[in-house]
Amino acid sequence: MKEYTFEQRERIIQRKRKKKLKRIRKIFFMIITFALLIGIAYEVFKNIGTGFSIQDFKQPISNVKRYDNSSHIENTRYLVEDTNLTDWRLILVNRWNSIPDDYEVELTQLSNGQSVDSRIYSELQEMFDAARADNIYPIVASGYRTAEKQTSLMEEKIADLKASGYSDADAKEEAETWVAITGTSEHQLGIAVDINGDGIHSVSKKVYKWLAENSYKYGFILRYPGDKTDITGVSNEPWHYRYVGTDAAKEIYENGLCLEEYLEELQ
Ligand SMILES: [Zn+2]
Repeated sequence: MKEYTFEQRERIIQRKRKKKLKRIRKIFFMIITFALLIGIAYEVFKNIGTGFSIQDFKQPISNVKRYDNSSHIENTRYLVEDTNLTDWRLILVNRWNSIPDDYEVELTQLSNGQSVDSRIYSELQEMFDAARADNIYPIVASGYRTAEKQTSLMEEKIADLKASGYSDADAKEEAETWVAITGTSEHQLGIAVDINGDGIHSVSKKVYKWLAENSYKYGFILRYPGDKTDITGVSNEPWHYRYVGTDAAKEIYENGLCLEEYLEELQ
């Protein structure tokens, strides 16, 4: 048996200690890497699941699709004829129900130049303050629109389509599946807003998630949920929020309704 001096033994112990430390460090880094990979996989999976990306700004402002479901059309027509609407917050405007000719709106301008009905301004402000307190930074990408503005959006869309080879008739038909016909856009009411992320502190997807969970507290509803397309006539628009007041918003949120269904229930 070999005899070690005191120094030699100390050195052996030191070496063993270093090896052990190395092993611990290795395990630690493996855990960190593993956690990171799980995190990345989760984010990727989430994006696939929701189907929209950071580029939501570039999506059409109004994505109206055609539906030939006549029972729903009847349903909605019935609604507007029979709903004795005295509450401005519950006015129904969709592809089957135009804005009344005598509709008037008093506007308040936001800091970025967009405008909204003055009656929704304070709750919109409150909602944005609450979002920012949660580190979510929304912007109003589009608020009130005049009939002229809505018409020019439609004309732009038609021109784009014609430029890409559509005939006059086809371009018009296709454009109407993307942009609401003048008189049927909630933006002309001034109580609907398209909300996105500011693109600096928040991506739109995060903003949409926050709004979906919190907007009802401030009287706003997700107006076109993806699973109500056959009733609203508009496909999923996670950015389009409509003011209905806190009571209606709470009921719509808690029962998973769209505005058309809620109004039907009221009768
Ligand atoms: Zn909108």
